[in-house]
Amino acid sequence: MAALLDLKDYSKDELVNILASMNEPPYRAAQIFRWLYKEGVVRIDDMRNLPSPLRDALSKAFRISRPRLFDSKASKLDGTIKILLGLEDANAIETVYIPQGRRSTVCVSSQVGCRRSCAFCASSTVKFARNLFPREILNEILFIKMNKELPVTNIVFMGIGEPFDNYDNVIKAIRIMNDPDGLNIGARKITVSTCGLIPGIERLASENLQLELSVSLHSADDAVRTRLVPVNKRYPIGSLIESCRRYIGKTNRVITFEYVLIKGINTSRADALKLAKLLKGIKCKVNLIRYNQIKALGYETPSREEGRVFLDELIAKGLNATLRKSRGEDIDAACGQLRIAQVQ
Ligand code: SAH
Repeated sequence: MAALLDLKDYSKDELVNILASMNEPPYRAAQIFRWLYKEGVVRIDDMRNLPSPLRDALSKAFRISRPRLFDSKASKLDGTIKILLGLEDANAIETVYIPQGRRSTVCVSSQVGCRRSCAFCASSTVKFARNLFPREILNEILFIKMNKELPVTNIVFMGIGEPFDNYDNVIKAIRIMNDPDGLNIGARKITVSTCGLIPGIERLASENLQLELSVSLHSADDAVRTRLVPVNKRYPIGSLIESCRRYIGKTNRVITFEYVLIKGINTSRADALKLAKLLKGIKCKVNLIRYNQIKALGYETPSREEGRVFLDELIAKGLNATLRKSRGEDIDAACGQLRIAQVQ
């Protein structure tokens, strides 16, 4: 028997077309969406407002996947929860839940492993296996919402993987998150973070989605950035910033530049001044974060004071910059620390 297709891999438009071929009206797609994403049903038979012949017909072709919990850890420091979910094959992915007052963020993975090999990131040490399907990205959030019964207000694509290396599945998942009959999370509450893949930035600019875009910059110097983020060789800083300018011009959105402060690598006064010069006049924010140490990789964390000085330098030059506090450090859930247990 052929494997059944998963209902959560379909956009609402695709479901409308499938239903049309079964002589069903378009509103059935909205009903199915509500069962999947608002009620979290895992059986087509539980979709009570669908006529029973339709439920039978759907069940012959489709299934509803559910995530399996492999492991979870809760931070005693700040309520952050790290979850390891098992996929239908032998792979597993990590998801992090970050409560902050009224905001509750889910940090999702977009791939099993990552191809981009950033020198300072724990995810780069996980061998790339494959892209996640839309259902698997959505299940990360549904697991938190349904199984853990926790509220979810924001999504960040800052788990394992490079979202633009899995562009189509990521955008499809985002449209379902965004749909009022889906997870109903506003586009402005969804952040996509990229290591700087220009084709992805260009495509996103034409999606007509009011997403938040973060670009992991980490240095304003090509030699340093290439060492930290190897894809800089292919898409160097000059062209990357040009692409960001086009994105901002076209979408009228602000871009956030992520900058991990790594001791002795990118934290000097000259580094700050070069960064300020690079970003001068661009509608952007700079998000600094002190490096979360990963022993196997050999980089070090600068002191809090060093972080402050760098921040003040940027602010003095007129940039809109903040120094982000790391979360979930006691459970290795902080940025770049996912999969660390397997690495060290
Ligand atoms: N591939 C995407 C998304 C995943 S990384 C990207 O590169 O943006 C999410 C963020 O965590 C990025 O800004 C990344 O540079 C940062 N990060 C990775 N390792 C880190 C570490 N060890 N300490 C602090 N931040 C880290």
